[in-house]
Amino acid sequence: MLNDFHDTSVAFAYKTDADLKKSYWLFKLLSSPALVRMGGKLAPLSIKAGLGSFIKKTIYRQFVGGETVEDCIPVLEMLYRYRIGSILDYSVEGKESEDDFERCLNESLKNIEFASGREEIPFCVFKVTGLAPLSLLEKVSAGKALNSTESAQWSKVKSRVKALCKKAYECKVPLLIDAEESWIQQAIDDLAIEYMIEFNKETAIIYNTYQLYRHDRLEFFKKQNETCKQHGAKLGAKLVRGAYMEKERKRAEELGYPSPIQPDKASTDRDYNLALEYGVQDPNVFLVAGTHNEESTLLLCRLMEQNAIPNDDKRFWFSQLFGMSDHISFNLAKNGYNVVKYLPYGPVKDVLPYLIRRAQENTSVKGQTGRELELIIKELKRRKK
Ligand SMILES: Cc1cc2nc3c(=O)[nH]c(=O)nc-3n(C[C@H](O)[C@H](O)[C@H](O)COP(=O)(O)OP(=O)(O)OC[C@H]3O[C@@H](n4cnc5c(N)ncnc54)[C@H](O)[C@@H]3O)c2cc1C
Repeated sequence: MLNDFHDTSVAFAYKTDADLKKSYWLFKLLSSPALVRMGGKLAPLSIKAGLGSFIKKTIYRQFVGGETVEDCIPVLEMLYRYRIGSILDYSVEGKESEDDFERCLNESLKNIEFASGREEIPFCVFKVTGLAPLSLLEKVSAGKALNSTESAQWSKVKSRVKALCKKAYECKVPLLIDAEESWIQQAIDDLAIEYMIEFNKETAIIYNTYQLYRHDRLEFFKKQNETCKQHGAKLGAKLVRGAYMEKERKRAEELGYPSPIQPDKASTDRDYNLALEYGVQDPNVFLVAGTHNEESTLLLCRLMEQNAIPNDDKRFWFSQLFGMSDHISFNLAKNGYNVVKYLPYGPVKDVLPYLIRRAQENTSVKGQTGRELELIIKELKRRKK
């Protein structure tokens, strides 16, 4: 069994010395919270000021596969040489018009067709906010009555989501539904359970995402599994800790309702690991562990071994984001586990919100950057020797 992820020669085998040095400088810059804060504010302006190509050569290159699916092909093929699959993630965010939603739907349908029969793309993914207005998702989530225009809009949203799920089923490509902010999540969860029940009868095709930084999600995850079972369906579950903690806490405080987030990191970790344990023990659950946390990843390896589950059992996938935690992805893949990386793509200006989130996530002292930098330095030193 895998005991740690410290073999940097495996982790960075695909990077040339020059690539590694570029990553070193990028993570070095990201380690400055002040710089990241300023960058986050200035990024949209910098595109207007013609600095798009600078962003493209630096942070974009680290975290994004390219502008189009075709651009991503060399990256995707490189990852697959190491037994790592890719999830093409059309990361264009913040769009609100019906035309944008239709464009996003068509792009996602095209991606599912493209993934069909290709082992190097074992999953597809989408965000419901790419297909629906935020205000509508919020209203549906709050259980408020919709007027006739909104009802018509909601029918359209449902038919878009259903079209994707149906295409995934026909093409036999498992489809992940990302989790988002708590105030729109109920609508997403309702859509997810409806289509899991419809399309997951033989195996898991539709996967909902459970954010264990919410204090109610462990129970909710189990409840959705019970509902699936009652309908003779498998539960597809992507387990994550959750990406919107600060925003969630701030909104709860401003609007004066109890925060949906766990009181501390230890509680999030506890529920995440309990969710893994629950998922391993119930054969009805198909898991994607979306995490860069070494302990949780090793825990899942250990649980699989204790339950005599082969490393490459297709019920279990480990998933990290492109440009992050290669030491986890590449060492897992080398040991025969199923690994898949989110490979975002889109024009520079449209993937900015995604890049800003990655920069912020990588900046805190407790966050990723310290670890990424440490590993890159270790590998650079090893190569020098
Ligand atoms: C493949 C993949 C897919 C993902 N998909 C989604 C998605 O659909 N939706 C989504 O929201 N996120 C998603 N994420 C992001 C994810 O939720 C986390 O933000 C990110 O992975 C960091 O968590 P971690 O488990 O990797 O590791 P860690 O670094 O161990 O955990 C950091 C996380 O712990 C939680 N946390 C930190 N401090 C506290 C605290 N004081 N109190 C309570 N909790 C705390 C937060 O969630 C924080 O992000 C995805 C991540 C991956 C790798």
